[in-house]
Amino acid sequence: MGGHRLVLATHNAHKVHELQQLLADADLDVEVLSMEAFPEIGEVPETEVTFVGNATLKAEAVAAATGLPALADDSGLTVDVLGGMPGIFSARWSGQHAGESLPRAEKDRRNLQLLLDQLSDVSDEHRSAAFRCAAVLAVPGGQARAVEGSVTGVIVREPKGHNGFGYDPVFRPDGDERTLAQYSDAEKNAISHRGNAMRAMIPVLREALAQA
Ligand code: IMP
Repeated sequence: MGGHRLVLATHNAHKVHELQQLLADADLDVEVLSMEAFPEIGEVPETEVTFVGNATLKAEAVAAATGLPALADDSGLTVDVLGGMPGIFSARWSGQHAGESLPRAEKDRRNLQLLLDQLSDVSDEHRSAAFRCAAVLAVPGGQARAVEGSVTGVIVREPKGHNGFGYDPVFRPDGDERTLAQYSDAEKNAISHRGNAMRAMIPVLREALAQA
């Protein structure tokens, strides 16, 4: 598979870091490029209403624009008592659209605080939630392929930990006392929605690269 290149179709540096680590773990013979290598390609509007739909939009747009295989993910937090929200609105739950001027860390903080406020009266046994991720591989001129991954847990009452991003400080995976923001990168990848989706994607990627 020497000489193959793959573009990670995300502008989120945390996700690029996690995806690069997951691909390195899989030992694929592929050069991984991020969107930094393609400054002319802006954010792809996420106009679909499912994780798979939005990941497909991003992967297909970037594959078409670069002429290279592109891997996109779309992910979010689904809270059971909120009927599956924030879901596809996770990145802009407190109202700001991606690309607007607030730094990502500040958006994350506001999103997380709004969620905690919304759940302030909800008892511990009703705070179940899951992170979900769709990963889509698009190959120029080919059919896009999608896989999904998830991790279940609960929303805690106070943010804890400083690693990761987004809602990590308020999400405690089932079977642990720590929040995801108290996990190391490697520990998070081993159980996370993105890790699980990427592990499902590896054989798909291996096959697509072999055929390229
Ligand atoms: P996306 O960039 O459109 O996939 O939006 C994903 C949003 O879901 C992020 O901005 C976070 O708010 C949330 N999210 C997705 N994955 C994670 C994660 O691993 N940890 C914490 N929050 C996440």
